[in-house]
Order: sequence, then structure tokens, then C-alpha cells
Amino acid sequence: MAKNNNNNIFKASWTYDEAPESIDHIQIKEQYDLYIDGKFTKPIKGKYFDTINPSNGEKIANIAEASSEDVDKAVKAARKAFKGWAALSGKERGKYIFRIARLIQERAREFAVIESLDGGKPIRESRDIDIPLAANHFFYYAGWADKLEYAFPNRDPKPLGVVGQIIPWNFPLLMAAWKLAPALATGNTVVLKPAETTSLTALKLAEIIHESGIPKGVVNIVTGAGETGASIVNHSDVNKIAFTGSTGVGKYIQKATAGTNKKLTLELGGKGANIIFEDASIDQAVEGIVNAIFFNQGHVCCAGSRLFIQESVADLVIEKLKRRMETLIVGNPLDKNTDIGAINSKKQLKTIENYIKIGINEGGEIYQPECKFPTQGNWCAPTLFLNVSQSHRIVQEEIFGPVLAVQTFRTIDEVIEKANNTPYGLSAGVWTEKGSKIFHLTQKLNAGVIWGNTFNKFDATSPFGGYKESGFGREGGLHGLKPYVKFE
Ligand code: NAP
Ligand code: MG
Repeated sequence: MAKNNNNNIFKASWTYDEAPESIDHIQIKEQYDLYIDGKFTKPIKGKYFDTINPSNGEKIANIAEASSEDVDKAVKAARKAFKGWAALSGKERGKYIFRIARLIQERAREFAVIESLDGGKPIRESRDIDIPLAANHFFYYAGWADKLEYAFPNRDPKPLGVVGQIIPWNFPLLMAAWKLAPALATGNTVVLKPAETTSLTALKLAEIIHESGIPKGVVNIVTGAGETGASIVNHSDVNKIAFTGSTGVGKYIQKATAGTNKKLTLELGGKGANIIFEDASIDQAVEGIVNAIFFNQGHVCCAGSRLFIQESVADLVIEKLKRRMETLIVGNPLDKNTDIGAINSKKQLKTIENYIKIGINEGGEIYQPECKFPTQGNWCAPTLFLNVSQSHRIVQEEIFGPVLAVQTFRTIDEVIEKANNTPYGLSAGVWTEKGSKIFHLTQKLNAGVIWGNTFNKFDATSPFGGYKESGFGREGGLHGLKPYVKFE
């Protein structure tokens, strides 16, 4: 995929010795079963699937495939546990959640390595972002468990019951934390399904949850593919579905739950606008662009995948961006130098490569720095497209890879109109020296999260979610409690 289409002044002059993270302390079993009713249980139909290391194509372990009968068992266990869990005082529930947070911290290195092995993301990211933030979410919501009356003054919040939660593969442990922590703090019981390609850290989390001594049946983790997810969605004794994933599957779930009593929250795809004004600190903005689109190989729902540069600084920004892209290291996720790891699956790599072809066929001007890829595994060079417009598919559709579409603008009104001209509404970034300009744009941009002079920053205390085809409902912060309670 890499193209040597640039002159050598951009070429990185530094080389780095390998700095691989040790995997000696990691224990991965050959086979993982379902976690139902406080026990690791074999799937009723006895089926297992492989989980693969995307950086070398090697099998890591066998993962149980939950059938609808297994899901039914998990829902029954969660229903049985609900009464007792909901009746516990918030303070007691909080103790278990604090314990889970601390156990994640204790085993942070192990979680980070497994996340990078199974999912392909650079160890620097899993070590410094995914795992600490996951612990952070449990800490944060543990703190709310005995303060719900302050979260909802005079409203007497009650839990919903059994919650089905379905998560994607891009932030496996973190998405599990986003889902589990608020649901447990508010007194619900849970059946959670991780994505097929990245089940391992959710299963490790099941071990920790077990160790925390939480009553059996409160958390059940069932692994499998889309069908397992559909069995949760269609189960008649589930009170709420919380889904993070693609807009296509989100729409299917919305249809499947329509006319039932199930509550629903959907965190779906995005096509975030990253807007650079001429008065921005340019070097800082270039780092921001890199972080916005190349973080986690671009497998980020809120990625800044559409770049808008004010015309007067466009040449300068693009030149600096290309030079910075030359220095990005693509390769072994477990190497601490790596900036861009492996693409999560062969299927996702095909999708990205297909979009790159579409971009070229539609007349976009592609730029990719020269990259040396490992011989095995799924790799994609950081990519940008110039000469594209609003009507290009790569500008409108979510690619979910390290591919950036670049456009320019002259006026604020023009960039607002262009930024909002997308079916999605999840994130945006604004780079300018003027605070007033940031505030003006935050009022006008139709996006759930808008960053000022930064991008892809997350915090447990801060709500996250979308508009339009990016879904509805918020996770994180006080807002994240609301989808898990009812008021009688
Ligand atoms: P996906 O294909 O929609 O899958 C998400 C989850 O749903 C996976 O666990 C998947 O199982 C399961 N699933 C698939 N078909 C299902 C069905 N018919 N019924 C119930 N569950 C089903 O999305 P993905 O490719 O994993 O993730 C990428 C997408 O997630 C992107 O569009 C991204 O923008 C979005 N995302 C959004 C956010 C947010 O907060 N807004 C955060 C992260 C990602 P299997 O994978 O096991 O098949
Ligand atoms: Mg894997």
C-alpha cells in the first residue's frame, strides 16, 4: 500500500532500535468459556472460534461461541440476580465497583499487552490510554453509586433491570468499562457481548469481576459474533439494550426493539470535522491532526477524518503534515516506538483498501509516506487525500482507518456548512487562538463532542455521544447514569 511518491527531504532521518514490551508475564489460556451466573461455562452447543493476532495472523486462543440458549441462560442468571443487587445499598454496590477498578490497575500491564496482542493497537496507547481510562470509568461510577439521590434530586431513580450490552472491537476493554460501570452503579444486572475479534480483555475482565466477589449473575459475559448480539437484542426478558457499533447494525437494533418495552441507547459511527483556522498554532494543530486521524489506526468513531484548513495556511499545514507523516512508525503493536499498529482484521483492511481505491478513482490526490511493513499481518500506511470535495464518498462515508480527506475553506460560515454536511454528528475539533471563535463554532456545529485546540481527549466525567446517524444517548459523566435509571 505504501507509495514512494514523495521527495526525500521529508524522509525521517532518525531510526529507533526496537523496544518491545515483554510478554513473559502474560498468561493466556488455550480456551475461554462463557462467564454466566458467576461461573466459566462451556457453550451449550460446544462451539468455539479462533481469536487472531492481527499483527502476524497467528491464532491466540479458542473463544466460546454463545448460542441463543446460552444467551437465555445468561439473561435468566441476570434476572435472578437483579432483585438482590438492586436492593443492596449504593455504598455496598460501590465497594464492588471500586474493587474492579483497583484490580484493573493492579493488572494494567497484563491488560495492555493482551489488548495490543488481540486487537493490534500500539502498546503505548493501550498502556497509557485504554487501560487507565477503563479503570477511571469504574472509579468514577463507583463514586456515584451511593450518591444517586444527588444525581437526580427529588426523583427517586430506580434501576431498569436486565441490561444487554454490545460493544465493538476498537476499544474493547474501555467500551466494556463505559457500559458496565454506570449500569452496575445504578443497580442493573448485565449481559455483555464483546466483538468477535477482540474478546480476550472482556474475558480477563470477567476474571477480575469474579475475583471482586460481586454476587453471581450480576455480570455475565457472552462471546460470539453478530448472531449472539442479535439473541441478546431479541430476548424478551431484557429491559434495555446499550449498543456501540456501526450505524447499519444500530438501525437494525432500533427496528428490532421498536414496539417493545426495551429502552435503547446507540453510540454509532462518525465522520468528524477537524477545523484549522489561520490564527491557530500551526505546529500544535499538525500534532492534533495526526492524533485525530491516526490514533488507534483511525479505528475511532470520533476520529477527525475530515480536515478543513483555512485557505491562507493550507499549503503550510499540508507540507508540515506530510513531513510529520514521514516520521510515523507503522509496525509491531508491542514495540513502544510504534505509532500505528495493525489493522484489526483482514475484513477491515479490505474495507479501508477499497475506500482508498474509491478515493483514487473519484479523482482524489493520494499521499502516503514510504512505510516498511512487517511481512505478516494487516497493515495500512497513514494516508491523506487532497483535491476532494463534499460529494466524494471518502468525504461522506466512515472509513474507520488511517485515511484523512483534506479540504480548504475561506470563511467561518462556509466551514460550518461543510462540517455539518454529513449524515453523522459525533465529534469535531476547532483550532484557533481565539476562544470566542471556539465558542461560536461549538454553538453551530452539530456534533456531540467538540474539542478546542485538542482532539480525541476522553475523561470519565465528560459525556460522550452523538446526533443524527451517530446515535442517541450519552455515556460518561452524570449524563451517563440517566440511560440506566427510571423514575416511577
Ligand atoms: P458492528 O459491526 O456494528 O459491531 C458492533 C457489535 O455489534 C459487535 O459486537 C458485533 O458483533 C455486534 N453485532 C453485529 N451484528 C449484530 C446484530 N445483528 N445484532 C446485534 N449485535 C450485532 O461495528 P464494528 O465494526 O464492530 O465497530 C465499528 C463501528 O463502531 C464503527 O462504525 C464505529 O464508528 C462505531 N463505534 C462507535 C462508537 C461511539 O461511541 N459512537 C465507539 C466505537 C465504535 P461481532 O463483531 O462479534 O460480529
Ligand atoms: Mg484478535
